[in-house]
Amino acid sequence: MRNQPDVNPWQAGARILIVEDEPAIADTLSYTLKTEGFVTECCTLGRDALVAIGKGGHALVILDVGLPDISGFDVCREIRRTSDIPVIFLTARSDEVDRIVGLELGADDYVAKPFSPREVASRARAILRRTRPTAPPSAIPKFVVDAECARIAYCGVRVSLTRYEYGLLSALLERPGRILSRAQLMERVWCDAEESFERTVDAHVKTLRAKLRAICDEDPIETHRGLGYSIRQHAA
Ligand code: CA
Repeated sequence: MRNQPDVNPWQAGARILIVEDEPAIADTLSYTLKTEGFVTECCTLGRDALVAIGKGGHALVILDVGLPDISGFDVCREIRRTSDIPVIFLTARSDEVDRIVGLELGADDYVAKPFSPREVASRARAILRRTRPTAPPSAIPKFVVDAECARIAYCGVRVSLTRYEYGLLSALLERPGRILSRAQLMERVWCDAEESFERTVDAHVKTLRAKLRAICDEDPIETHRGLGYSIRQHAA
């Protein structure tokens, strides 16, 4: 029997940022996480990590405390100003563990060095299992949905949306990766659906794309020929 890792569909392909200045540790960790179906990205400096997280698209951060430029504690504090992305600390000393626990930095877990990469992968899975399925759209890094005020921010910028554009985008954001057909979108967004045509959806998606592209030069909406539209899982 093959020893298949326990990866749920929503975890497969989740992007994990590894912030670790020791190449041997980063490489081993990255290798193990990849074999378990995650996508990894590595950086060695705290400042680079903050830039990467600012761009969004990560499901979790594995953060070494002892970094060459700024400490992992300060990186975590900075992350928490704008994001609730899960953070697992890697610590080299026991007094660091005390500080992680004592400083209430908002870390989700920590692992003391030397550690088994499989142990870190299992902690990562546990955290993602805990946080991802129940996460509201507002937890998605690039998009913040304010349903009460029918507003959506993208990459920190409020998008000026018509009623229909808001309806389309919020429907797609409910579950990134899920494909909604034009008919489903019509039904969800247009109350007078029988008087509209499916090409109306295409026209509104086109203007929506232009507005999003004006904010961030990538297209988070994926067209599935003959099927419909979805929000790209990692673009969200
Ligand atoms: Ca280090």
